[in-house]
Amino acid sequence: MDAFTLIVASGLAAAIMAATMLLLYRAGSRAAGLVDWSLAGLLFFSSNAVAFAASLTEVYDISIAAIGNALYIAGHFGVLAGLRRHLGLKPRYGVLLALVLAIVLVHRTEFAQASVANRLLMFAPVIVSINAAVAWLIWRLPHSEARPAYLPLMGLELLFMLQILVRTGYIAVHRTTDLTFMGNQALQTLGSLSVFVFLMVAGMGCALIVIRHQELALRKASLTDSLTGWLNRRALHDVAERECLRAQRSGERLSLLTFDIDHFKGINDRYGHSVGDSAIQHVTALAAQALRGYDALFRLGGEEFAVLLTGNSDDTLLRIAERVRDLIARTPLVADHKAVALTVSIGLASCAPGDTEWEDALRRADLALYRSKREGRNRVTLDGDDLPTPAAA
Ligand code: GH3
Ligand code: MG
Ligand code: MG
Repeated sequence: MDAFTLIVASGLAAAIMAATMLLLYRAGSRAAGLVDWSLAGLLFFSSNAVAFAASLTEVYDISIAAIGNALYIAGHFGVLAGLRRHLGLKPRYGVLLALVLAIVLVHRTEFAQASVANRLLMFAPVIVSINAAVAWLIWRLPHSEARPAYLPLMGLELLFMLQILVRTGYIAVHRTTDLTFMGNQALQTLGSLSVFVFLMVAGMGCALIVIRHQELALRKASLTDSLTGWLNRRALHDVAERECLRAQRSGERLSLLTFDIDHFKGINDRYGHSVGDSAIQHVTALAAQALRGYDALFRLGGEEFAVLLTGNSDDTLLRIAERVRDLIARTPLVADHKAVALTVSIGLASCAPGDTEWEDALRRADLALYRSKREGRNRVTLDGDDLPTPAAA
C-alpha cells in the first residue's frame, strides 16, 4: 500500500464521516455533538487534502506540514469536543485554538524542522492525550442502557492510542530518522492505515451513540405521560409484573397506592379544561414531593394515578398515603388569581400470597379507593380494613 493511495482513501473516509454526521443532524435528530463530529470529519478531510495537494505538487514545505498536522490534530480534538457536548460538557474550542497556534509555532523550531520522525515524536503525546481523554470520558460514564453504545468509540480510541505509542516507541528506541513526508516505510504505512481505519470506524461509533440515544428517548416517550411526566399505564404493566415476580422471590411486600382527584369534573366545568390540566400537574407534583424516594409513579388515565411501593408495613403505608392526601389538601392550586382547593381519595392494597397476578392487588386498591370516595372523599382506605366484599362494593 503506498502512501498516496492511503491518503486518498483516508480523505474519502473523512468526507463520509463528515457527511454522515451532517445528514444525521439534518435528518431531524439535532443531537448534541453531531455538528462537532461533522466538523471533525471535515478537519480530517482537510488535513488529507493538504497532504494530497503536497504529493501532487511535490512541495514538501515545513509550513505545509504545519497546516496538515494542525488540521489532523484538530480533527482528533473534534471527536473529543463532540463527545463532550453530547455529554452536556463544554466542547472547549478555546483549548483547540491555543493548541493549533502552538502546533504551528512549534514547526518553526529546528527540532521540528529536522525530521518527520521528530515531528512524530513531538505530536504523539498530544494525540495520545486527546484519545485518552475520549476513552476516559466514556470509561467514567455511569452504567446505563446507553453505555454499551459508547464502547466501540472507546475501544477505537484506545487502539489508536496503542498504535501511536508502539510506533513512536519504536522510533525513539531505534532512533529512526529516515522517515520522509510521503514515506512508504512500514512505520508510516501502518500509521496511515490506522488513520484510515480510525476514520471509517469513528463515524460509525458516533452514529451508534446518537441512534441508541434516539431509540431510548423514543422508548421513554412511549412509556411516559406528557402532561405529568409520570409513567403511563403501559409502563405500569411492565414494571408491576417485574416487581411482582421480584417480590415473590424475595418475600418482600409489594403494595399499590391508587388515588383519584375528587370532583374533578366540577373543576373542568367551572374553570375550563386548561385549569383542569394544571390541576392534574399540581396534584402530581405535590404527590411526587410527598413520595420522594419512590420513582414508580404512574398516571393510569384521566385523573387517576398509581404508585408502586415495596417493603412497607400497614402503618407505614397509611402514613405515606396520609402524607400525600394531607399535602394536596393543604396546598390549593392558584389559577387566574384564584385559589382552587383540591383533594384526592386514596386506596391502598398489597399483593397477597393467593394472587395470581399483580392486577388482583390493583383491583383491591381500586375497591379501597372507591370506599374512600363513598365515605366522603379526601381520605385514605387500606384494603382489608373492614372492606366490604367485592360483590357488595
Ligand atoms: P370523583 O370525586 O367521584 O372522582 O368525581 P370526578 O368528578 O372526579 O369524577 P371522575 O373521576 O369520573 O372524573 C373524571 C373527569 O376527568 C372526566 C374528564 O372530563 C376529566 N379528565 C380526564 N382526563 C383529563 C385531562 O387530561 N385533562 C382534563 N382537564 N380533564 C380530564
Ligand atoms: Mg375523580
Ligand atoms: Mg376518575
